[in-house]
Amino acid sequence: MNYAVIGYPIKHTMSPLIHQTNFDALKNESTYTAHEVLAEDIKDIKKWIMDSELSGINVTVPHKETIMAHLDYIDPKAIKIGAVNTVHYKDGELHGYNTDVTGYIAAFNAAFGKKKERHILILGAGGAAKAVHRAHIDHGDIVTIVARRLESFATFKSDDFTGIVTNDFTNRHYDAVINATPIGLNHEDVFETMGIDPSFIDDDTVGMDLIYNPKTTPFMTYFKHSINGLDMLVNQAMDAYKIWTGQTGDTKSVKDKLEKYMEES
Ligand code: NAP
Repeated sequence: MNYAVIGYPIKHTMSPLIHQTNFDALKNESTYTAHEVLAEDIKDIKKWIMDSELSGINVTVPHKETIMAHLDYIDPKAIKIGAVNTVHYKDGELHGYNTDVTGYIAAFNAAFGKKKERHILILGAGGAAKAVHRAHIDHGDIVTIVARRLESFATFKSDDFTGIVTNDFTNRHYDAVINATPIGLNHEDVFETMGIDPSFIDDDTVGMDLIYNPKTTPFMTYFKHSINGLDMLVNQAMDAYKIWTGQTGDTKSVKDKLEKYMEES
């Protein structure tokens, strides 16, 4: 079987390394390639998938929303979030899913437990924040999102969250804080950058950074317990593999490979 990831740009994607490692570990002879696809070509995606003899694709920025109009079936969870990151070509139809949501919540709950009605604060209101928001709402948590601009909330499909802009920030206890901004990729401090006083964080507040490289960000150092975004990255890929094949991926081999790759790069 052949699989691929599409996006624009696509140069820095980790998906081929992840999926090839999984295929190798499972002695599966499938292929996985990365393709730059322009916005204007998304309307022809079905023909392209058929011509390329692909059984499934991952979809990344900027096509996660626009591809939805060209699918035959969309999983209700993906409809709710308004984004698809995994497509399965099955019986002549394109089926869309969102494994960012499932991959994220599995990583969060594995690290911090499955309690419900947790108060969650998300920093940032972009594509990843939408997946994190949907994951926690579906789990039964209470979500607050902080963004630098009020307009950012307009792109959320549902209003089951409290949206606050940076300078409206009022302190209260949160069970978890999630960094869903790119601030930290170059070792910047997200609290400093967004002008948020971190004194609301106590020993019971856990932190998750969606960034996975660097392994530890300044954000993570504010918490007694924190994790980075590597497990989410691996989980979303293995959930896609399960959708495509019905089989469970080799999560451990993939995670070990990525950790080694990032240490060496
Ligand atoms: P995005 O759609 O571009 O959203 C980024 C968000 O961060 C936006 O709300 C943006 O605000 C905000 N932001 C950026 N710079 C800011 C600044 N200086 N001050 C305040 N807010 C700022 O990006 P994304 O796709 O959501 O990705 C966000 C992060 O998550 C990235 O680091 C990405 O690598 C990571 N991620 C990880 C995984 C994983 O599997 N671990 C998956 C997806 C994403 P504006 O709207 O005002 O610009």
